[in-house]
Parts: sequence; structure tokens; C-alpha cells
Amino acid sequence: MNTKTANAPPDSLVEQWIRPQVRALSAYHVPEIGNLIKLDAMENPYTWPKPLVDEWLEVLRDAKWNRYPDPHACDLKILLRATLNVPQGMEIMLGNGSDELIQIIAMAVAAPGRAVLTPEPYFSMYRMIAAVTGLEFVCVPLNASDYSLDMPAMRAAIIRHRPAVVFLSYPSNPTGNLFDEQQVCELIEISPGLVVVDEAYNAFAGSTFMSRLAQYDNLLVLRTLSKMGLAGLRMGVLAGSPAWLNELDKIRLPYNISVLTQASAGFALRHYDVLEAQAARLRDNREQLLTALRALNGITVYPSRANFILFRVPAGRAPQIFESIKAQGVLIKSMHGASALLADCLRVTVSTPEENQAFLKALEHAL
Ligand code: PMP
Repeated sequence: MNTKTANAPPDSLVEQWIRPQVRALSAYHVPEIGNLIKLDAMENPYTWPKPLVDEWLEVLRDAKWNRYPDPHACDLKILLRATLNVPQGMEIMLGNGSDELIQIIAMAVAAPGRAVLTPEPYFSMYRMIAAVTGLEFVCVPLNASDYSLDMPAMRAAIIRHRPAVVFLSYPSNPTGNLFDEQQVCELIEISPGLVVVDEAYNAFAGSTFMSRLAQYDNLLVLRTLSKMGLAGLRMGVLAGSPAWLNELDKIRLPYNISVLTQASAGFALRHYDVLEAQAARLRDNREQLLTALRALNGITVYPSRANFILFRVPAGRAPQIFESIKAQGVLIKSMHGASALLADCLRVTVSTPEENQAFLKALEHAL
């Protein structure tokens, strides 16, 4: 917002009091969509069948929104533990989206001279949250050929910076691949601080570190319901040992999960088969989209274990191709410029066969 009103504070006052690290940030950018087909944010395009929506609305009718929500969301946690196969003895903590949980972790460890480490390219909120909480942000480039972990560089950076937290997006956003499991285990073993395995795309991955929580006392596993079709609900889950989570829970605002969210998420989890079936469809759609993209000349398509696909277009053409696809009614995400490793790269969310087809047609035309 740049609008100046008559009683707006002078810039000098803002500069005096808003920390330079905050002023240096750009707000998280969410583009206007209008009538575009939205394939930029890894959302699930499928909605629920009407009878299920009606049933859900009945549940909401009984929600007690005149009262504060259960601060511990006890009923919802029982359902989540069972649904996400949280191992015995491990605790879970809920966030208003998993990005809130990333922020809580950062707030809990932040102190002068401490660092957060993550491979690059990375999910942009890791950097933003590190900046706001005053943590040094260390990123270690992935191998350029296949976006695998550069293990010698990761080992060296962990020894040198002794990060308070290592964030590993598994599968990796925005590259889409799954890091080698044994390599991730080694990073957990050599890390002096926490390792957060961020499994936002777990529904499409077929691999998890959840079952390894008891094996490593510095491991936390992060999940979200966003990519399962509930992005609008804002429901993130952090799993790990009670020793960590009891501390982190002190930072969480007591009523961060609203009455409506608790009721809706509970309802959704009781119908988890519907969400799982949608994820399965999206995995099939992803394979079809990968095949179709690989058949196009002039682009490099990267393997994906998530609900999005990263691809590289001919050098220098990413902005024009992105704009052309948009002009044809489809919004994807340009990753060009986000990292040296993403030069000429675009990222598309996997959607319904119809929307994927519209995207493919637009891309072919743009190329
Ligand atoms: N982690 C990763 C790797 C992500 O890509 C995202 C969202 N794009 C999130 C966390 C945050 O998801 P949410 O806040 O919707 O749970």
C-alpha cells in the first residue's frame, strides 16, 4: 500500500521504528487472477460432492462461534494423529497453515549469530521468516544437473554455520524432486540443531520421515492440509517429540485455530478418503502432464513427486512464454530470476485433465 492519507506518519518516523530487516523485505506477492485458470499456487482443483458439502454445512451450523476455540484442538488432534500416522509418543502442534509453524520454529530459536540453513532453490517463506526473526539465512545450491543435494557443500555449510534449524522441503519446492532419503538421514545425523522435514507435498510423494521421528531426536516433520484440497482452511501440522513441541507451543497464540477451522478440518478428516482419492487423481494427472510435456520440443522437464512440475524453456524466453500463456488465460508461476539455478524455468500446478490441456495448448502456442 503506497497511498498517503492526510494523517499518514512521515517516512522518517516509519524508518525510525520499523526494523531495517522488515523494511528491506518485499511482501509475499499474490497475483491478481481475474478469470485466469489458476495453476500458480499448487492448489487442488477438485471440490467436494454436493451431498458432502451439505453435510459439512450442517456441522458448521452447530459450531459455537460465540465461544473461543479449544486452544488445544483436542478432538481435531486425535483425528490428525490417526490420519497422518503420527508415531506413539510423538506430539503434534497445529498452525494457521504450515507457514505459521515455520514462523513459530524460527521465533523459538532466533538469537544473534544463529542461522537457518536450507538448500537453494527454496520455499520463499523460509528466507522471509528468517529475515523477520533476525536469523542469518544460509542457502546451499543444489546440484545444477538434477537438483539433488550437494552433499559435500551441505556438510561443509552445516559444520561452518552450525544452523539452529535446517529446513528440507521433501519433495522440494520449487524443483519438485524428492531428495535421496539416505542423504537426508545423514544431514539429520550431522546437524547440531533441528532439522525440519517439510512434507507439504506428501500426498503426492509416496515417502515420509514421519515414521523416523523416534529415530532422531532433532527431527521435526511438517505437514499441511493445503495441498490436499483445503488451502483455504489454513491447517498445518508439526509433529515431533514433546520435548521440542512443549517449548514451541508457548509461542503459538492460544486461539490460532478457529472454531470454524477445527470443525471443518475435523469433518474433512472424517472424509479423508475423498481427499485421498483426489490426490490419487492428481498423481495420475501429473504423470499424463509429464508425458505430454516431455513430448514437446525445446523444453526440459524435471521429474516431479509433487503436484507441480518445473520445466525450463529456451534461454531468454521465460518472461515472454509466461506472459503469452497468461494472455491465453492460464496463470502459472515464473521462477526465472528467483535463483541462478532457476534461469529460464517456469512452474505449473497439476490440475484437472481439462485445465492441464488448456495449459499445454497455451504453452505449445507460446513456444
Ligand atoms: N512448505 C512448503 C514447501 C510450501 O511450498 C508451502 C506452500 N506453498 C508451505 C510450506 C506453506 O503451506 P501452508 O501455509 O498453506 O500450509
